Amino acid sequence: MKCHILLTPYPGGGAIDHMEVLFTFDSLRRGSGEELCKQTLSAFTVPCCDAEGLRVWDALGEVEVRETISEPYPYRYKHFFLGRELEGQVNVRYTVHPRPLLPGDRCAPYVDFRCEEGGGTSAGYAFLADFGKERGKVSLSYDMSHMPEGSRGVCAFGEDEVVLRDEEMSIFRDCYFAIGAVKGIVVGDQCDFGIYWIAEPDFDMKGIAEYTRELYRGMSAFFRDMDSVYRIFVRKDPYKHSGGSAMACSYLFGWNETEPVSVENKKSILAHEMVHNWPHLSDGEVGSTSWYSEGAAEYYSMVLPMRLGLMTPKEAMREIQGMTDGYYTNPTRHMGNLEAARICWQDWRAQKLPYGRGVFFLANTDVKIRQATGGARGIDDVVLDILEKRSHGVDMGNKEFLETVRQIAGIDVSRDWEIMQSGGHFAPLSGSFDGRFRVSPREAVEADTGKTVTSYLWELV
Ligand SMILES: [Zn+2]
Repeated sequence: MKCHILLTPYPGGGAIDHMEVLFTFDSLRRGSGEELCKQTLSAFTVPCCDAEGLRVWDALGEVEVRETISEPYPYRYKHFFLGRELEGQVNVRYTVHPRPLLPGDRCAPYVDFRCEEGGGTSAGYAFLADFGKERGKVSLSYDMSHMPEGSRGVCAFGEDEVVLRDEEMSIFRDCYFAIGAVKGIVVGDQCDFGIYWIAEPDFDMKGIAEYTRELYRGMSAFFRDMDSVYRIFVRKDPYKHSGGSAMACSYLFGWNETEPVSVENKKSILAHEMVHNWPHLSDGEVGSTSWYSEGAAEYYSMVLPMRLGLMTPKEAMREIQGMTDGYYTNPTRHMGNLEAARICWQDWRAQKLPYGRGVFFLANTDVKIRQATGGARGIDDVVLDILEKRSHGVDMGNKEFLETVRQIAGIDVSRDWEIMQSGGHFAPLSGSFDGRFRVSPREAVEADTGKTVTSYLWELV
């Protein structure tokens, strides 16, 4: 199977008015009545693009399609079904419009195809239809003939035309794009790391590029991943607050004219998002393993920069204190993981739960493994073992996490895990985060309710 994607943007309003998306498959085995593809219309309440005027034609000519909508939380999809069997080369073409911004729109997560002066940034799945998991040669290029001179396209997998020899057809849905008047800094001789933006930023982009390059070098070595790429995309927000989101091999963060950006205030979030490239567990039910991905992102965004000398223990302690007070004063903290996942896009307080309980559970498990093995092993061994098995296609979920701890340290942390996942109270342990800190209880004020609750105070050892 070969699949080529051609993106043809058309200018308008100083940016992109609309874009034509053309998929060409050398062949695509699909029968009459079968689903051809689906387009994500919205994700986590953020609107994506409709595949407008979708047309399909193959060796026999035009193919009729029928549309239906489905809404598996937190997504909304438009499905396209075929009127007859496909034959020979297949072309699918449709038009997308960037998201129009309205006052009061929610800014995150950053999955929308959104324009700023000169072009736009987007998650792939906001405009690329999903044709399934079939593998083959997948390529993507841009026709910039209608756009102002110097326009180009960049995605996480490369600048301009990208050819991937053996990948899933939907691979480009999982990364970020910047299209139009894209500026960038590429660091390293293999062009494996870059940072890209459209609207001219008012902060030190070079400093951020250099810091994140060092971080990426250290992290990819720690996670034993020596041949991947990583690209950061930067978007200007018309809002007063900005955030960031991670996708495959890429991260997009926003900035605005009211909140200053510096390397210092971006250090921990850049590290958090970069970690998302690696540790994950398979999600049986939505939200059942986000404690692990978010917890590991929080944990390694502290310990790896400290080990690499990119963050001082004092800086890390400030961040860990923030995580601690954020979690232990969160009024939704007694919610179970699955319940929190069900409501997290309506209640932002619940959205933060996997971060806090995940990081302290992993940090505590590290202390317990060290105690049980006389300091010989730690949570790193568990995380790296899981990563290794997953890279060989082994399905690793919550049960396998607990088993890996048992194998590596000879201890059973399933009771601790049960307390964590059901929203029970547990205290962070001294000696965690590479043994740099001690921790003791202190009174704090619960957010929204003003009740007195127990949080914890971190100090340098
Ligand atoms: Zn995260």
